[in-house]
Amino acid sequence: MGPGEQNKEQQDQRAGRRVKRVALPSGKMIEVVYFDQASAPETLPKLELHVCPDCDARLVYPVHWTEVDRANWEVTLRCPNCEWIHTGVFDQETVERFDEELDRGTDSLVDDLKRLVTANMEEDIERFARALARDHILPEDF
Ligand SMILES: [Zn+2]
Repeated sequence: MGPGEQNKEQQDQRAGRRVKRVALPSGKMIEVVYFDQASAPETLPKLELHVCPDCDARLVYPVHWTEVDRANWEVTLRCPNCEWIHTGVFDQETVERFDEELDRGTDSLVDDLKRLVTANMEEDIERFARALARDHILPEDF
């Protein structure tokens, strides 16, 4: 590697890029450019199917979905908040992300419920403990 090349690599690093030279089996050298996370060019916001475009509620759920082909799904979406309904064709990645989001939504609902049950139990235990303390009769009372 000549001094010129070294210099170029440093410049690339300053620009938030890292260049890695990879030798292919054919002996050809190629440059692979990595972008640092922070300075990566902004990508278009990903389509989030669980967010209602009308009222921004994150409650949109699929009413119906069918496989169009190997990479696309036709999904009918409904927002329970504003009754927005939409049918569209979305790619596999978008639908998978939606599916994960739905799973997360279910998880958080279950978590909330568990927390609620635990809180109620704690309240019961506390009330029970207080009652016990009030009515507690120690052996030396006899
Ligand atoms: Zn809505």
